[in-house]
Amino acid sequence: MENECRRVALAGNPNVGKSTVFNALTGMRQHTGNWPGKTVANAEGTFSSDRRTYTLFDIPGTYSLLAGSADEAAARDLLESGNADVVVVVCDATCLERNLDLVLQITELTKNVIVCVNLLDEAKSRGIYVDTELLSSRLGLRVVGVTAKKKRTLRALVDALDDITEDRGGGSDGGAGIVRYGEATEAAVSEISKKYAGYGGGARWRAVRDIASGVAGDDAMRDDIACSLVEKAHEICRGVVTAPDEPDRRDRILDKIFTGRWTSFPVMLLFLALILWITVSGANVISDALSSVLFSLEEPLSRIITSVGAPEWLRSLLVDGVCRVVFWVTSVMLPPMAIFFPLFTVLEDVGYLPRIAYDLDLPLNKCGACGKQALTMCMGFGCNAVGVTGCRIIDSPRERLLAILTNSFVPCNGRFPMLTTLLVMFVAAGSLASSLTLAAVIAFGVIVSLCVTWLLSRTVLRGQTSSFTLELPPYRRPKFGEILVRSVFDRTLFVLRRAVCAAAPAGALIWLLSNVNIGGECLLVLLERALDAPASAIGLDGVILMSFLLGLPANEIVIPIMVMAYTSAGTLADAASADALRTLFIANGWTVRTAVCTVIFAMFHWPCATTLSTVYAETHSFKWTAAAAAIPTAVGVMLCALAALIL
Ligand code: GDP
Repeated sequence: MENECRRVALAGNPNVGKSTVFNALTGMRQHTGNWPGKTVANAEGTFSSDRRTYTLFDIPGTYSLLAGSADEAAARDLLESGNADVVVVVCDATCLERNLDLVLQITELTKNVIVCVNLLDEAKSRGIYVDTELLSSRLGLRVVGVTAKKKRTLRALVDALDDITEDRGGGSDGGAGIVRYGEATEAAVSEISKKYAGYGGGARWRAVRDIASGVAGDDAMRDDIACSLVEKAHEICRGVVTAPDEPDRRDRILDKIFTGRWTSFPVMLLFLALILWITVSGANVISDALSSVLFSLEEPLSRIITSVGAPEWLRSLLVDGVCRVVFWVTSVMLPPMAIFFPLFTVLEDVGYLPRIAYDLDLPLNKCGACGKQALTMCMGFGCNAVGVTGCRIIDSPRERLLAILTNSFVPCNGRFPMLTTLLVMFVAAGSLASSLTLAAVIAFGVIVSLCVTWLLSRTVLRGQTSSFTLELPPYRRPKFGEILVRSVFDRTLFVLRRAVCAAAPAGALIWLLSNVNIGGECLLVLLERALDAPASAIGLDGVILMSFLLGLPANEIVIPIMVMAYTSAGTLADAASADALRTLFIANGWTVRTAVCTVIFAMFHWPCATTLSTVYAETHSFKWTAAAAAIPTAVGVMLCALAALIL
């Protein structure tokens, strides 16, 4: 085997299976999902064939290299950098003609191209046949047909890679392109390419790009380039693709339901309520079992710590402080996540998420935001930090910031248990009633999020609303095995690990606050008393406000802190039943007004520490990070004050 490592870029339209090819070859778990634009960062991995080693880059999906969005620019920069020895363009066999546009553009850029026609299984099931040999001779490129979900079919791709790297060696060669434009355009291209003589074969591409982006040439040339590409793709596909006349009927019927004017929103709410109901009722059972197992570990742990000669205060700090918070967070957070994430992933896998973006596109546009924000809001249901990172799929910096700043208005999984506990206690008993109420509360969150988006886009973040191409992918049967792996490992355990990391030091801090006394009273009580006055103005009390403050690392610990403070336990309370909690809260002065204000505040307050640090990582700005905390808090304070006045 040759030792030299060759660099391979994986390009293609969104949602054609690039990540699936990437994962199958490298054995990595890059996120795959049935919606366009989810590959937001370049992933890199290595694999070896019998002959050599390759480094593979999965670059963001793009329809064209000639348009100006951030994703397209990122893909173009990577390809233009000449870092890739070979570019594999993954295409969707079910809509090859549209995919060829990108292939044709890339052939202007480099000669070392392999066309990988994926999703052959799906094409077959729809009666579509692609003649890869004919395609190869028309393009003058290597073409392989694969079904990326079946790893063995990728052998053909690896063989093609071995061949092309053997024939042409390393380094990227500039392409000559396949398309010939009109006379005037060609003349301009050869004139402009002189300017790029230093770029070798890439000069022609740069000239084409300059004309297409309006830097050079005129409108007629720009149109000529766009039309010539489309016409060439059409010409190449004639005879290469054989498809039935009738498009997929099943997909059309489903689309009528999921994106219909009158049906889309009720169906969306129904799905939301159903997912919440399954999550809430399932999570209760598992939470109980899990907490009794975890809390039963406290005693043996205490014994071990004492047996090594540790002082009592250290034992209490570790067991009653750190462990108890970690156990509570795990038992309250893990079950709903372990149910919610797989259900959410199913919706993602069957192709429902882009339909939500399509349905919400109009309301979001009216608010001056991008329709893709609907997707980042959906991600926020799982975890706001994930939602904030996901905002990278939004091209315009202004709209991206809007989506980042309003992401925490949709409650994340960490807040579901708190919301359901409060709703079950005071508003609606029974899992069905409480999940319906929870669905209504979440819908309210979405509406408030739209209002705030509107307000921001009319004030500090004013600007033009951009348009975007959203492809509605075909409905695909979910792959349950993969869903389990992806939702459990990539999402559930990932989020849980982060929450536990935040909860452990929080546990120590809370223990210290409740065990260090000043003037005969512990710090927790002093803090709670100081907060009493501002809290009561918004319908809460000092304990509630303090619990939210101390819950900054993870929302899951807010209720346990309240219980601890009310019972003056000095350590975090053990998981208690809804009835016991209700009695305790009522004994401490809670009324329906307190419960309503607490629910509102739980919906709208500062995002957790992880989300805030993610906002900073994405915006590199203290100002916007502070805004991400201040905006929901201001909304929460106003709504609570209003509710306190009315009730
Ligand atoms: P990317 O956006 O190009 O990275 O596409 P993904 O790898 O995320 O794939 C998009 C969707 O197509 C996912 O639901 C994949 O599971 C599915 N998919 C990918 N390759 C195949 C294939 O060969 N056959 C079928 N039926 N589905 C596939």
